[in-house]
Amino acid sequence: MQVFTRVQEMQEWSLQQKRLGKKIGLVPTMGYLHDGHLSLVRRAKAECDVVIVSIFVNPLQFGVGEDYEEYPRDLTRDAALLEKEGVEATFAPSVKEMYPQGYSTTIEVGGEITAKLCGKSRPGHFKGVTTVVSKLFNICLPEVAYFGQKDAQQAMIIEKMVRELNFPLRIVRGPIVRESDGLAMSSRNVYLNEEERKSALVLSQALGLARELIENGETSVGKVKEAMINLINSKPFTDIDYVEIYNGEDLSDLAEIKGKVLVALAVRVGKTRLIDNLLLEV
Ligand code: AMP
Repeated sequence: MQVFTRVQEMQEWSLQQKRLGKKIGLVPTMGYLHDGHLSLVRRAKAECDVVIVSIFVNPLQFGVGEDYEEYPRDLTRDAALLEKEGVEATFAPSVKEMYPQGYSTTIEVGGEITAKLCGKSRPGHFKGVTTVVSKLFNICLPEVAYFGQKDAQQAMIIEKMVRELNFPLRIVRGPIVRESDGLAMSSRNVYLNEEERKSALVLSQALGLARELIENGETSVGKVKEAMINLINSKPFTDIDYVEIYNGEDLSDLAEIKGKVLVALAVRVGKTRLIDNLLLEV
């Protein structure tokens, strides 16, 4: 596996692969890899000729007071995992390489899709995401790029950006990979102490409760949200950021639970902000 840290070298390698007629798959990550990331890598390996995994903790998508500095990093371990998966190239640039002195260009997706959920509680976050992902697309030249349903809103926004800016590539969404007890895998789970780890289970439990209520015929957005909120608040160390139910195609408001529905939540457990979601066809 080749590890690139320079934009120009990564781009030249990608161009060369394209000239050879290879289909490039890209899996963008912030590293500290777990099975959620690796599930996307395996899918890319199965569907493409060559796979690039990018590892970059993108400062633009972290707000003031968020965990940019503490975010876990271990490139040696990540590279060993990717080597084992048979990945052809890892792109792990420095911040200076991606955003040299004087850098000032931003890509921003408009509409309510970026204004709700994490867009509301983390102002500027998605601008940082779409800016770095646009750069990664131009550097790595993928035919297919892989994103996790774990970050459902992010995937929706990137799909919209690809459509509206005519990026010549396809987005594939992979399902949420969970620990055996249901907690969605996340690099941030390492922040949790033993007690918080127990409370963190309530995110997937609240989604399970929502599924149950909806499958039993509940159509009231308010009632499902209330039941979820009550369950989450019954656990120690939890502090709800949001519990929302929106149209699963475009995040528009729902008069009732019907059609493609996204149930999404963000909860602080101790100091750790966790997200999870459930996409349902009702
Ligand atoms: P991150 O490193 O957290 O930025 O995630 C990189 C990619 O992996 C994103 O597309 C995430 O949605 C995806 N991902 C993260 N956690 C999971 C998970 N538990 N299951 C599936 N995909 C995930």
